Amino acid sequence: MTEPLVSRMRAFGTTIFAEMSALALRTGSINLGQGFPDTDGPAAMLEEAVRAIRSGANQYPPGSGVPELRQAVSEHRAARYGLDYAADGEVLVTVGATEAIAAAILALCEPGDEVIAFEPYYDSYAASIALAQARLSAVTLRPVEGRFTFDPDELRAAVTPRTRAILVNSPHNPTGTVFTREELTVIAELCRERGLVAITDEVYEHLTFDGVEHVPLATLPGMRERTVMISSAGKTFSVTGWKTGWVCAPAELVRAVSTVKQFLTFTASAPWQLAVAHGLRHESAWVAELRGGLQDKRDRLMEGLAAAGFAVLRPAGTYFVQTDIRPLGFTDGLELTRRLPELAGVVAIPTQVFYDHPERGRHFVRFAFCKKEEVIDEAVARLKRLSG
Ligand SMILES: *Cc1c(COP(=O)(O)O)cnc(C)c1O
Repeated sequence: MTEPLVSRMRAFGTTIFAEMSALALRTGSINLGQGFPDTDGPAAMLEEAVRAIRSGANQYPPGSGVPELRQAVSEHRAARYGLDYAADGEVLVTVGATEAIAAAILALCEPGDEVIAFEPYYDSYAASIALAQARLSAVTLRPVEGRFTFDPDELRAAVTPRTRAILVNSPHNPTGTVFTREELTVIAELCRERGLVAITDEVYEHLTFDGVEHVPLATLPGMRERTVMISSAGKTFSVTGWKTGWVCAPAELVRAVSTVKQFLTFTASAPWQLAVAHGLRHESAWVAELRGGLQDKRDRLMEGLAAAGFAVLRPAGTYFVQTDIRPLGFTDGLELTRRLPELAGVVAIPTQVFYDHPERGRHFVRFAFCKKEEVIDEAVARLKRLSG
């Protein structure tokens, strides 16, 4: 039989996460590759999910999401960011941020349209853009004084008459950059001048460190009306398996995204939605504690990686730390991460897989720190073999 997969998806084989997680399992390595926490979310929120199932929330909820969650999202956006979104009409619940991103791109982009994204980028972006038969135009983030940022001129030059949207992920996976108000202002000006829609991926909105503040792009002048703001519960409440996300946008944009979303999944699972509504309303102290704990883990891992000989870039947010492997005498992160289980019993992710221009990320390797202290300590002890 000839290759059954449609040509536009052939570049998307198994993800690096599958390869590296299998490698970790096979070799008994510590997995600092995939970014999921090894501890549970807030106990009362987990109980809410159980209660929801026991009390009969087991049939299709409304396509836009259960009213309790839409209301909780609306209140949460208003209280935290001063952004008003009507629970009825301007909030849409999705199967994680991933579905929200896919539905937004499929709803807003014609074949041949261009979508700008900052590379290295989250792997679902390119696949969603390919499904829409649109084209991804990558603007590269590069380290400047220890943090990844973009060149405003490069960003401006990437906009063409075919550019429809810009995908903005901040706090940014996999670099840990949290865009500053100045950086966001450059993006916002461009969106307004060139009539672009902004699709924002804010799944790490609560996970920022050192007092750095997450600024939603939609809060900048003229941006609410042209922004599809996306977030989800997975990272905020350490429940990545719940796949409960949401879109906030003006009614016209929400209608467009809903039109596609209804035929992807129709609706998201009911019990998690009720539990996440509880989380948004009552678990902000738990989230603050998570953030503080993650900052300590970040520092622990950074210190250990530096002691092992890596050049370490300090992330201001997310679960991830980027390292430059050249001080250890390596030049190719893919080659190093494939050998790392045998060299040190640790699994990490080669950052180059998140680029359209892999050579620009060849010497970076990503480690996740959303793991228990003892796991981080053991990984660090093992990594010291590299320089030993
Ligand atoms: C984890 C992650 C997602 C996916 O979120 P879900 O709610 O699990 O679909 C999207 N974007 C980024 C940058 C992520 O790290």
